[in-house]
Amino acid sequence: MSQNFDIIIVGGGAGGFFTAINIAEKNPKLKIAILERGKEVLTKVRISGGGRCNVTHACFEPNELVKFYPRGEKELRGPFHQFCSGDTIEWFEKHGVELKIEEDGRMFPVSNSSQTIIDCFTSATKKLGIQVLTGQSVQSIYKSETPDGNFWKIETQNGQYNCEKLVLATGSNPKMWEMIQDFGHTIVSPVPSLFTFNIKDSRIKELPGVSAQVSVKVKDTKLASTGPLLVTHWGMSGPAILKLSAWGARILFEKNYQFTIFVNWLNDIDSEDAEKILKELKQEHSKKTVSKKSPFEFPNRLWESLVLASGISEETKWADLSKAQLQNLSNQLTNGQFQVNGKSTFKEEFVTAGGIDLKEINFKTMESKKHENLYFAGEIVNIDAITGGFNFQNAWTSGFIVANAIV
Ligand SMILES: Cc1cc2nc3c(=O)[nH]c(=O)nc-3n(C[C@H](O)[C@H](O)[C@H](O)COP(=O)(O)OP(=O)(O)OC[C@H]3O[C@@H](n4cnc5c(N)ncnc54)[C@H](O)[C@@H]3O)c2cc1C
Repeated sequence: MSQNFDIIIVGGGAGGFFTAINIAEKNPKLKIAILERGKEVLTKVRISGGGRCNVTHACFEPNELVKFYPRGEKELRGPFHQFCSGDTIEWFEKHGVELKIEEDGRMFPVSNSSQTIIDCFTSATKKLGIQVLTGQSVQSIYKSETPDGNFWKIETQNGQYNCEKLVLATGSNPKMWEMIQDFGHTIVSPVPSLFTFNIKDSRIKELPGVSAQVSVKVKDTKLASTGPLLVTHWGMSGPAILKLSAWGARILFEKNYQFTIFVNWLNDIDSEDAEKILKELKQEHSKKTVSKKSPFEFPNRLWESLVLASGISEETKWADLSKAQLQNLSNQLTNGQFQVNGKSTFKEEFVTAGGIDLKEINFKTMESKKHENLYFAGEIVNIDAITGGFNFQNAWTSGFIVANAIV
């Protein structure tokens, strides 16, 4: 026996819940169901942001906000004018969840717990009479033309469902993408985004936990970024590296994660200026030991390591530095070459680049251009962002737009 609904949302994640709740609030008469394959819903929300859920980012200008999306920058401009991060804050406030801004702009529930978001969503679905059906892995979807309009027929391993309007919010699920491809959509092949770089190098081996404000470039590409870099036990992480991993998701995949980077530990000071600064330091501190104290705004431990890597012994005084040693040091400081061999997961947040081709979606409604009454929300489409709350913002914005379009 099949069950009929006005609207079915496949996927009980951030995008699916936000869509369902917004539809029901606009029109409580509609019969809505969420079909979720797992035993539990909102599992990614639970683990997100290290268990704190980085809900959005304190960037309130649509034209600025889009710049955090390596894929989707152009397409999200319109949607963010409809529902932006300020609207997210207001929405959660109205639903009893207060958000706070951290120094770097990330926004979390005041409770510091993702459970607050889960409770908010689950109590809203109960109140609004949305049916949340778990253990319903969608196996097939097809359209049947009927005299009263198009009906979507959905089969899970446990049941059959019909609906007038179908919303797919299944995140980065390859099986679902295959299904969508079968009914005419193009899928941009998925590759990981937001990862850290594996680097084995004596210069950083003893320095896990050290961070510095740097600029980084990937050799033989146009990929470059600036920001804090964090040395880890496996290599390098921090915003400067994560940005490269997001913007370079496809290029670095094609390089099989084997590539060379150049790190400028002095951020925006070039090698010529660095050499000038070092010459001045040589004059000023002639009697002092070079390796002892970092003259730059990064930790002594890093300075000492770069000094040694420049062929300068631990005891060498500034006055005794040769021209070649000065040049070596300037080079280590501004153009340090590191070999990347593989990647590691950034545990706070990782996403997939790829998904439904953006050209096949109407961004005023999030409706498919290939099929009427078929909508998409969240990470299922070829949109992803750097870390900071932007990926959830995409789920909230697309969910809101779907709800607006449907009701
Ligand atoms: C560890 C981690 C931490 C993160 N932290 C943050 C953060 O703090 N801030 C941020 O902005 N982003 C974060 N992200 C990214 C964010 O979680 C995703 O961008 C977001 O969850 C996407 O929402 P979605 O609804 O599109 O997909 P999902 O949340 O992945 O939900 C999709 C749902 O669909 C279900 N599903 C899939 N296939 C089927 C099927 N065939 N039938 C039925 N159901 C199906 C899945 O089981 C899942 O529940 C994090 C990601 C990870 C992995």
